Amino acid sequence: MTVDAQNTRDRRNSRTEEEAVFDASKRQIAHSAQWLAGGVSSNFRYGITPTPLVFECADGAYLYDIDGNELIDYYLAMGPMILGHNPEVVRRAVLEQLERGILYGGQSRLEAEAAELFCHLVPCAERVRFAASGSEVVQLALRLARAATARKVVVKFEGHYHGWIDSVLVSVAATAENAGPAAAPHRNPASLGQDTDAWRNTEVLSWNDLGSVERRLAQGDVAAVLMEPAMCNSGAIMPAAGYLEGVREACSRHGTVLIFDEVVTGFRIAPGGAQQRFGVTPDLATFAKCLGNGFPVAAVGGKAEIMDRVMSGVVHGGTYNTQAVAMAASVATMRALADGTVIKAIEPHGRRLMEGIARILKAASIPALVTGFPQVFNVAFGIVEPVRDYRGLMATDKARYVKFTHELLKRRVRTLERGTWFLSSCHDDNVIDCTLEAVEAAAALA
Ligand code: PMP
Repeated sequence: MTVDAQNTRDRRNSRTEEEAVFDASKRQIAHSAQWLAGGVSSNFRYGITPTPLVFECADGAYLYDIDGNELIDYYLAMGPMILGHNPEVVRRAVLEQLERGILYGGQSRLEAEAAELFCHLVPCAERVRFAASGSEVVQLALRLARAATARKVVVKFEGHYHGWIDSVLVSVAATAENAGPAAAPHRNPASLGQDTDAWRNTEVLSWNDLGSVERRLAQGDVAAVLMEPAMCNSGAIMPAAGYLEGVREACSRHGTVLIFDEVVTGFRIAPGGAQQRFGVTPDLATFAKCLGNGFPVAAVGGKAEIMDRVMSGVVHGGTYNTQAVAMAASVATMRALADGTVIKAIEPHGRRLMEGIARILKAASIPALVTGFPQVFNVAFGIVEPVRDYRGLMATDKARYVKFTHELLKRRVRTLERGTWFLSSCHDDNVIDCTLEAVEAAAALA
């Protein structure tokens, strides 16, 4: 930790009884918004109650904002910070690399080492290509699949998020009004300005329904099935028993490329992601987030015969691909996660937190469902029975949950309004104790 960051922490390190206020953040956002559109640089950071926050530094399980609040962080930057904020092992690797340069626009030994580690850890990866964001690698995976099959149609699933590119930003957050029938969900673009031609060949199905995938693939024109292998962007829904195996088998039978989007699950629920955890190997898989513990790095890995098409006509570019500092961070992070110990060590803490939240909400008579993995789970209000797909989440009481997260934030616990909780290896028993205290107080007011 730098001296400045240490000073900030020392000044703020007491968790007080007083409710946190966020006035300085509010003022800064209003000031920034004169030049920075909306005061933020991602739509997913906008419209947050009571304000998007402005941070000064971060360390371990904590964020420090410009109002002087020390916040226990369950956003973890939307997932990447599996080793916590600013871990020594990543910082050291990055600082060493900075002495040697930032971006070469050419190859490095580090990049080869990262590729070797990645292919060693990820079951489907015979080859890999790196990029700078999850959205980009999804784009590459789709291009590879279409080139490999000479087909156009891509099947995706309701409620699954694969980045903000036009072709897949469809039916991510459908509502009861626009979703259409479950057996044939309507396609709902999520953004104004999307090219309707770009998603003409994207078809949407309900997830966890093997019959619908089998029927669609049987038509013989589907290039790829793209899915989050455990649905973490809406709820945290597990694949039904036999579902991943069944889709795998159907894809093989019909010549369709199976793509697992492991941007959230990769290096988080197991070093090799959901494919390792569930023992089902896709043809291609996309990774990002935990791969570089916060550095902008992403990867698509998969079968050599598909991946090698980047040398025969499939274009993959990117000025910042394998930026040397991001590669140093990735090698350090993958090494730290490789034997699975760190990820396993999160489990008792995550489980304790999940069980504690469920117990407290039940005692407060708030109907709620806590599901997922100890490393990434979801809390939904208004439903109690496990759900199988996005439709099951439509009945959740989102407004009440947002109020709950606001009460938590006032008690210095920062969680995503959509219900996801990410844990890092720094969320120890003490952090969980403080969190459960805040949950108890927030539940009484939500
Ligand atoms: N796929 C999944 C499953 C994701 O969760 C995300 C980001 N939340 C993306 C793709 C897009 O990644 P990025 O934001 O790095 O473009």
